[in-house]
Amino acid sequence: MSNRRRHPSVAGSEGLTLTAIRDTRTTRPGAASPVADGVRRRDDAALDAPVTEIDGVGPKIALKLERLGVLSIRDLLLHVPHRYRDLSRLEPIGRVRPGQEVTLVGAVAAVRRQRTKSGKPVVVVEIADSSGKILCVFFNQPWLEKQFRIGQSFAVGGRVERWSGRPAIVGPEWEPLVEGSESAHSGGLVPIYPATEGLSQRALRRYAGSAVQSYAHLLGDPLPPGTRSEEGLPSRPDSLRCMHQPASLEAVARARRRLALDELLALQLWSRRKRAAREALLAKSLAAGSQAQARLIDSLPFDLSSAQARCIDEIAADLDRDRPMSRLLQGDVGSGKTAVAAAMIARCVGAGGQVAVLAPTALLAEQHVTTLKRMLGPLGFESFVPEYPMPMKGGPVLARLVGSMRPAEKAAVANAAAAGTIDLVIGTHAVIQEHVRFASLALVIVDEQHRFGVMQRAELPTRGAEASPDSVPHLLIMTATPIPRTLALVLNADVDQSIIDELPPGRTPVKTVWLQPSERQRALAYVRRRVESGGQAYFVYPLIDESDTIDARAATVEHERLASEVFPDLRVGLLHGRMRSAEKDAVMSSFRTGLVDVLVSTTVVEVGVDVPNATVMLIEGAERFGLAQLHQLRGRVGRGTAESVCLLVGDARGANSAERLEAMTRTNDGLELAERDLELRGPGDYFGTLQSGHVERFRFARDARTDVLKLAGRLASEILERDPALLKPEHAPLASLVASFEEGVARA
Ligand code: ADP
Ligand code: MG
Repeated sequence: MSNRRRHPSVAGSEGLTLTAIRDTRTTRPGAASPVADGVRRRDDAALDAPVTEIDGVGPKIALKLERLGVLSIRDLLLHVPHRYRDLSRLEPIGRVRPGQEVTLVGAVAAVRRQRTKSGKPVVVVEIADSSGKILCVFFNQPWLEKQFRIGQSFAVGGRVERWSGRPAIVGPEWEPLVEGSESAHSGGLVPIYPATEGLSQRALRRYAGSAVQSYAHLLGDPLPPGTRSEEGLPSRPDSLRCMHQPASLEAVARARRRLALDELLALQLWSRRKRAAREALLAKSLAAGSQAQARLIDSLPFDLSSAQARCIDEIAADLDRDRPMSRLLQGDVGSGKTAVAAAMIARCVGAGGQVAVLAPTALLAEQHVTTLKRMLGPLGFESFVPEYPMPMKGGPVLARLVGSMRPAEKAAVANAAAAGTIDLVIGTHAVIQEHVRFASLALVIVDEQHRFGVMQRAELPTRGAEASPDSVPHLLIMTATPIPRTLALVLNADVDQSIIDELPPGRTPVKTVWLQPSERQRALAYVRRRVESGGQAYFVYPLIDESDTIDARAATVEHERLASEVFPDLRVGLLHGRMRSAEKDAVMSSFRTGLVDVLVSTTVVEVGVDVPNATVMLIEGAERFGLAQLHQLRGRVGRGTAESVCLLVGDARGANSAERLEAMTRTNDGLELAERDLELRGPGDYFGTLQSGHVERFRFARDARTDVLKLAGRLASEILERDPALLKPEHAPLASLVASFEEGVARA
């Protein structure tokens, strides 16, 4: 499948490498009129001025705002409310029911400070209106007692529960109501901002209000007025104004949609231009390697699936051109991407080019070394021996390069790669990028595993490109993360895609069972039976939160318990991201060789591990994972011929939990699960896994609906068709949006 779309090359980008494109940021395209450009620069300067320009914001408050990531006036405008309190639809207090999300307004009838059984301080505030009373309960914040004066009016919001047998909101959002100060322009909607200690909601509203009033109009609109009216979109300044001072929730939704569109459009235009620039460069045609490729395919111990064969053809056709390929090979875990990679390595080496295979971890690099050695052996590949850097038989030479190697060994590999005596280097991104310059690198294969998206690819090494802009390596990225079509159009606009959409024949699909936590004993008994009859098992412990440390601790505690109480007679290993890589490797290799029966781990095991004898996986806290990740994890089993089982232990309390866990038991199709996940949870995960520097760039896109994703793709195509380099005056603001996006990427 080729969604290739070619533009004449972008102004000023001819002959540049991917890395060098970043440096074009000073030559802003779209600077058609010096006057317009001057105005824009002045507006930008005003927007980039520090927040202290705002009335009432001094250095002290500026420091507090800084904690929210708000430094400039532009930041302040973009610091939008995360929700709104709807004062126009207040619930009478007497009518609220447990389970409801409510906003209530009432007067303080009583304030008590007490202690829980365990001695924690609790402040209980009784709020009343003419219809009834409700308790607001605050744990561990004794100082709040002084904030509530009897008779004073407050707005409170949150989920109604029962506490001491009465309706209550535990840890509500709360705010004193000051007569006449609210909702002057808010139509009853009061914005609630992401806040920080020492800054009241009221203060944030006031600062945002004055930023909106004096500066919003300077933001300008990246979309030409024609396009805006054709698509019925609000302007960018109006959209931000509306976020801070909304007339209605519908208007907020329209504004969010518009702001998401701007982010997605910037991404689209940037990645398509990046692609056009890359396509303007030259690469080595690998057509001469077609016989070597054919020999490799013949020597495989299996027949290719028809999907593998099709992907090989698609990739080979690209490699035969003298333009650098940028292609993504997507295939579910176990679909046989490695064989496809091996065929391309054979083609490249057969044509006299060097290949680098980059893996995200040392573990995976070692696995590729083992597999590729086996696959390429019949073509006469031999391993590089640092002590004897000249090959013995004159066949192609394969080398491994990972961090744990001695410096002298690394240097030997690097020297041989630079001299051209090594044909294939397999190692981790970091190590190869740091150490190796190639004599004639023609193909880079990146095993991306669960990372994905154009933003990560922007960070890929393009080693070789700087050295010889007239011979840039072809790039093949392998990913096991299926991505829904609508998202692929937006997130993969910089690459072509080949998809292996069937598993090799003879696989028994993994059987997936969802169990309640109360059924855990059954699950453990089942695992024991499987292990006693010769199998091995994975136990995966949940993402507790975003922190590696806490995850590692959970896995460590569980490992202890399983090893000493549940399976004292079995060999139980532990693997987590906080271990040193040598430790991890040791554990993995004992698991692979069968010295460990049960491997307890965090999600690190997700990354491409292949142990065919492991036929059972138990995932604890399964409801905490997204479908994509559950599916990735599940792919670790079902790699051999024995029937594999995946046990999901989790409850259905969280949003969509039941739907997600059921979907897992229903299908093994990664793409179908990804589509379902997109429906259930939105595209947040796809942006959420970005490096922190990039996440901010997609604060609105994270919640974007499919229609906005599509619109961004369509508009980008239309705009570039008319004006590939964004040089027309009406595209000047768009060009500067793209330029600042590019700057942000280069900085992140
Ligand atoms: P992926 O990297 O896509 O997860 P692998 O390349 O590791 O998958 O392949 C998984 C297993 O399937 C390997 O043991 C591989 O040798 C085997 N395999 C690959 N292609 C085929 C095929 N066409 N027929 C049978 N087995 C295959
Ligand atoms: Mg693989």
